[in-house]
Amino acid sequence: MKDASRDRIQVEDAILRFKKAAVCTGAQAAAPAIPGMQEVGYLTNETLFSVTELPPRLCVIGAGPIGAEMAQTFARFGSRVTLMEKMGRLLPREDLDASTIVQAQMVKDGVQFIFDATIVRVEARGSDKIVHYETHRRAAELVVDEILVGIGRAPNVEGLGLENVNVEYDGSGVKVNQRLRTSNPQIYAAGDVCFPFKFTHTADAMAQIVIQNALIPHPFGLGYARTDSLVIPWCTYTEPEVAHVGLYEANAAARGLEVETFTYNLDEVDRAILDGQTDGFARIHVKKGTDKILGATIVAAHAGEMISEFTVLMKSGRGLKTLTSTIHPYPTQAEVIKKVANAWRKARFTESQKNILKKWFAWTR
Ligand SMILES: Cc1cc2nc3c(=O)[nH]c(=O)nc-3n(C[C@H](O)[C@H](O)[C@H](O)COP(=O)(O)OP(=O)(O)OC[C@H]3O[C@@H](n4cnc5c(N)ncnc54)[C@H](O)[C@@H]3O)c2cc1C
Repeated sequence: MKDASRDRIQVEDAILRFKKAAVCTGAQAAAPAIPGMQEVGYLTNETLFSVTELPPRLCVIGAGPIGAEMAQTFARFGSRVTLMEKMGRLLPREDLDASTIVQAQMVKDGVQFIFDATIVRVEARGSDKIVHYETHRRAAELVVDEILVGIGRAPNVEGLGLENVNVEYDGSGVKVNQRLRTSNPQIYAAGDVCFPFKFTHTADAMAQIVIQNALIPHPFGLGYARTDSLVIPWCTYTEPEVAHVGLYEANAAARGLEVETFTYNLDEVDRAILDGQTDGFARIHVKKGTDKILGATIVAAHAGEMISEFTVLMKSGRGLKTLTSTIHPYPTQAEVIKKVANAWRKARFTESQKNILKKWFAWTR
């Protein structure tokens, strides 16, 4: 962004004028503030895909989605992988039992875990890389061939001259309102550079919001698209996958929402048994006393394919009654979605309804 005249951008030597512009510069791997790391060298999610030889021993730092996915992948390729995390568990943002299931599979894949780890420094010793760390007040070192850092992503805001055109930003990115407009009314932003949910599908949804708001006329100020109307699912592509949409139980409690939570395990779903993929579950959080879905988590081999059923219901304002009256083909793993909805329905039966049903079943035998 060239100057404060607010409608010019410099691309190499050319000055281009715009009526509306959008900042979509994405994010990059956050740099670790660990002494010695720059000197020793490390891989990130950007450089990882250029690696041509399998590191025999790999230290992955960060047990979030990228760290978990890459640790499992490299373990399956044949690397001896150690995953280090400063928190106490894998995928700390997901439900504990979800991450426990994934961790158990990763242990079977050969991944070693070091939790509550503080990395003190890194040094090179010959061709080895030594990671000095502390865990539970015990100092130790790990010797590896390569280090992969997956500790989060930082927005690409530097060097664009945003300050010249009055576009406010900070370490978390370009500041936007719900319409994705920046502090300069002619300039919008979309994607990782301005949004906490850093996914391809959210970047795409935000691009559509920017197009609608920046390029289409809005008579009487009507017809603006907003980010708060987005229902955003996500998925961690480990095996099994962990997919989620909406609130977690803790989020709901923090917002003062009373929820009822229902879980149905895959080991009671015929297709999952047939497929030998019984490690997982579907979980729903429902607004108490209603059928309104506030959030859902699925742990399953193809959880990312299954979560959209909940997303559609949430986006369209439909609840579990729609789900319980929707036929699901048998045998599919997605039946777990119907079964968890049925668990909600059963919990709503009154004692007299239960008694009538019991008598009915006894009579029909
Ligand atoms: C390892 C990894 C795995 C991921 N897996 C998934 C996944 O499975 N599913 C999912 O939904 N999301 C995933 N993501 C996240 C997803 O890639 C991003 O959320 C998405 O790409 C964001 O889109 P964007 O357009 O905002 O930014 P980007 O896709 O990063 O695009 C920004 C572009 O702007 C360019 N740029 C930057 N600065 C400038 C400049 N000054 N001038 C010109 N161009 C510039 C960049 O080079 C880049 O090409 C993953 C990310 C990583 C790192």
